[in-house]
Amino acid sequence: MIVACPTCKAVVDAKKHGEFKRLLEDESGNRGGAAYVVGECPKCGLALFAREDISVDGEEEYYSEPKRLWPSPPSDVLYMMPQMNADECRQYPVFMRLCFLNIRSYL
Ligand SMILES: [Zn+2]
Repeated sequence: MIVACPTCKAVVDAKKHGEFKRLLEDESGNRGGAAYVVGECPKCGLALFAREDISVDGEEEYYSEPKRLWPSPPSDVLYMMPQMNADECRQYPVFMRLCFLNIRSYL
C-alpha cells in the first residue's frame, strides 16, 4: 500500500496487516464500496490506516489510490506534489521549491 508516512515525511510502501472490504449495490445494480487497510511503515514502524475506493465492473474490482485516514490525512494537494531528489528540485523556480518545502512540513 503506497501511502504518505507523517513521521518519515515520505511516501512509503506500507506493509499490509489487514483489510476490511465492504461492497454495496444501488437500485440500478451498480456495485461499489471501499476497503479499509491497516498497514505499517517499513521505515519507522508507524501504524497507518487508509481507505481505498472500489468500483466494480462485471467480475472485476478496481481499487483507487489509498487515502490515509489515520494519522490525520494530508490534504489533496499533497497527493499532487511530485516526489523528487535535490537535483530534480533545482529545476523548479525558487518560489515553487519553497512551496514544496512548506507542504512537506505538513506530511
Ligand atoms: Zn514512517
